[in-house]
This record gives sequence, C-alpha cells and structure tokens, in this order.
Amino acid sequence: MSLYYRSTRGDKKIVSSLEAIVKGIADDGGLYVPSHFPNIDKTLSELLEMSYNDLAFYIINKFFPEFDKEELLECVNGAYDDKFDTQLIAPVESKGDTHFLELYHGPTLAFKDMALSILPYLLKTSMKKLNHSKEVVILTATSGDTGKAALEGFKDVEGTKIIVFYPEKGVSEVQKRQMITQEGSNTYVVGIKGNFDDAQNGVKEAFNNIDFNKELENKGFDLSSANSINIGRLVPQVVYYFYGYLNLVKKSAIKKGEKINVVVPTGNFGNILAAYYAKKMGLPINKFICASNENNVLCDFINTGKYDRKRELKLTVSPSMDILISSNLERFLYEISNNNDGIVKEMMNRLTEEGIYTISEEMREKLSDFYGNFATEEETYEAIKKVYEDTKYIIDTHTAVAYSVYEKYVKEIGDKTQTLIASTASPFKFTRSVCDALGLETDDYNDFQLIYKLSEKGNLNIPLPIKGLENKEILHDRVCDKDEIKESIKNLLGI
Ligand SMILES: *Cc1c(COP(=O)(O)O)cnc(C)c1O
Repeated sequence: MSLYYRSTRGDKKIVSSLEAIVKGIADDGGLYVPSHFPNIDKTLSELLEMSYNDLAFYIINKFFPEFDKEELLECVNGAYDDKFDTQLIAPVESKGDTHFLELYHGPTLAFKDMALSILPYLLKTSMKKLNHSKEVVILTATSGDTGKAALEGFKDVEGTKIIVFYPEKGVSEVQKRQMITQEGSNTYVVGIKGNFDDAQNGVKEAFNNIDFNKELENKGFDLSSANSINIGRLVPQVVYYFYGYLNLVKKSAIKKGEKINVVVPTGNFGNILAAYYAKKMGLPINKFICASNENNVLCDFINTGKYDRKRELKLTVSPSMDILISSNLERFLYEISNNNDGIVKEMMNRLTEEGIYTISEEMREKLSDFYGNFATEEETYEAIKKVYEDTKYIIDTHTAVAYSVYEKYVKEIGDKTQTLIASTASPFKFTRSVCDALGLETDDYNDFQLIYKLSEKGNLNIPLPIKGLENKEILHDRVCDKDEIKESIKNLLGI
C-alpha cells in the first residue's frame, strides 16, 4: 500500500509526501500524519551493517516514497556530511547501564541539526518535483535551537527565504549570538518582546490567517514551516532511535531484539514522538520516559490525562524546553484516539478557547508505555554535577533534565532495562549554567569566556562552530511586539 498524508483535524484531502513537506501544515490547521507506518523489512543483521546515511536513506525512503532513489541519496548525503564533527553522526556514549545518544555533533550543537540539515534538501526537491514556482518563506518560532539550525540549513537555498522569531530575553547568550550573527542573503532574525509561546502563537496565527496568506500568495510567496510540525522534520528524527539501538547491539549492551527504554527531554513533543513512530515501525522500546523541566505540562498530562496550559511560563536553565503548548502532541492524540480526527479537532479547539482538555479513559490506557516526570532547576544542576563526579562526562542542562527524571523513574519503578538517553545539546551551548553546576566561578565572566573555562575543566576541545563566536559581526538587530508578527513579515518581504 502506498503511503500518503492527511490532516489530524478531519480535512479528508489526501496529499503526497511532497505536498505535505512543502505546505508544512494542512489547510484546516491540522498536522500531516502518515496513512500507516511502514514496516522494517530487513533483518537486524542487515541493519547492523548500515552507516548512519544508509539507515537514513532506508527509513526516510519508506515515509517519502515519491522521492527517486538518486534524489533522496543526494538529500541524505548533502545533510549528513562533514558538517558533523564525527562520521558516526550520532554516537552513543555509555556510562554503565545508561547510554547517552549524542545528537549534538552538527553545526549548531543541538539535536535540531539532525532534522534541519536535511529538511532544506527535502523541501527543495519536493518543490522541484511539484513545479512549485512561488518563493517559499520558511517561518519559524524558536525557543533557541530550532532557529539557528533552520537558519544554517536554509541559508542561501535557492527559492527560499527564512524568517526566525525568537523570545528576545528567553534564550541563552550563545544561542542569541549564534542567531544574530547569521550570514546568508535570504536570512532574517527578529526578537519578540514576549516568551516562546508568544512567538509560536504569532507564527501559527500567521499560518492560519487566510487573508494574510492570500496577500502573500498574490505577491509570489508561500509560507512553510521549519518547526517540528513539518513532517519533513519529524521523519529524519526516527532514524537515530534505530541507529542508537543498533549501536547498543553492536557494543553488546543488549541482545538482538531486547527491549530498551528511551528518555527524552521534551518540549514540543517532537523528539519523543519520533521515538514512538520508531516503535510503530517495530523498534523494541519498553518505556518512553518523558522528561520535563519546571514547565511540567506534559508530565501532568501523562499522569492525569488532562492537558492544562493555564499556568505561567517559567524561564529555566533548559530554555529549549520552556514551552506550554506542545504542538506535536496533536499527532500523538491522533494515534491514541485510533485516528479519530473529530476528537483531535475538538481537543485542539478546546486548547485554543479554554486552554485545557481532558482525554478519555480509553485514550489514557494507551499512555501506559509512557512515564512522565519533571526536574526542578536545582535537580537539573545536581544531575550535571553528579554525572561529572561519577564519570567525568559533562552533560548540558536539557540532557540533565532527562537524566534526573530517569533517576526518579529507576527509583520509583526499579526497572533495570538498558536505557538510551537522548542527549540533545552540547554543554558548550549552555556554558553558564553548566559551569555553575560544576562549581566553577562564573560571576566575573561572560558566557563566551566561560566556553574556555568549560573546555579546560572537561579537557574538551571547543566545538568549531562556536570558536570565536563573540567576535563575529552582528547582522540582525530587529525587535518587534508579539502582536506585530504579520506586519514584520510583510516589511521583511517588502510588501
Ligand atoms: C528542542 C529541544 C528540546 C525539545 O525537543 P522537542 O522535540 O521540542 O520535544 C530538548 N532539548 C534541546 C537542546 C532542544 O533544542
């Protein structure tokens, strides 16, 4: 059966993977979901022979059948090349029964690179195959990491412009500097006077506003998204869960077919959803451990079946998870409701109108594979310190949230299953918090000086992409109010 895509919210129109990638979001505001999950038709021994790129080709090909073999190979090999500082692309660092799947070896030092280095290739190819003549404007709200990864991925890609909105005061110094020094003739970066949810809501509103989209269309522009609502971002993330699993088999940490747990520090629910998709394809996963920071809306959802965003957003030391509306949860609701788009639509309407919804008992039963908990700020610091003291390995704040929640899980459940922790950022991206956690003196140093301190402490090389970042020229200084996003876009596009 050929695979196609449809909306989570009931629009019955069926689209190909090409259209789903170019459009980003369905006409009714829903997210595109695959008609079914492809099966793995190779043996484990065959999979074990594959490089990261081989595996990426194999899995992505199953989800995007319209791409020719040569085209997809070009996408995969263009994305996963020496932009990554290891040929393994996503190596696993094992510390006892805990295995860190390092997803931060790409050009912006966070896991967003895993998908955003390939999305521009997938989009360009899809546009070409559809004879799409309009210029595609990639519109992105970022809590810090997506923005830079998308800017890097799309810079100077023909037929595209990219506009990134970030919360002016809600990202780390390094994250901000990475974005405002972005080169490329088609890149635009705008600070929002508000938090990430304000930026994301503004961008979503722009996507959903029919008049605004018509106006842009008349001027030759089409909006698309690089946020994880785009299926072209989600699918490449499925790959590394398989890769991580195979790595554990290779190093004899597990037997072939043995189940593992995965721990994912979660914000928009994209990364953990990719793990869930991997299980749907046959990857033996026992528990999905969903780790939140103090913005623990997902943790509450998993434990009570009630999603309640009516709370203050807190700014934490894991800013990429400072999110109260987890967009990709919509795809998960679609799965656990047995593809009931009516229910999904109703819940999403409730979320917009009342800020809250509750799932049925039947849907809750499907959550039994999930464990949800959260780490406080203090526990996050403690986790960094403890892992360093025990193993001399330095983790970043997001990975620390995951580690802390994993510790709680083991203490509570006593489960000894081998566990893969998604390690989502380099500690160099969040130097101040990491140095604080390690007990280094930070008061008299700026975040860039701390990069050198951290490198000394951990005996680590400074990753190339942030070497000398403090001296790069600032090329973007725009700031706008949270309700000016549409005007800002028009200004930038000259309409
Ligand atoms: C984006 C991000 C997350 C959260 O991932 P989601 O897919 O949004 O759940 C976690 N850690 C880091 C470092 C990130 O950049």
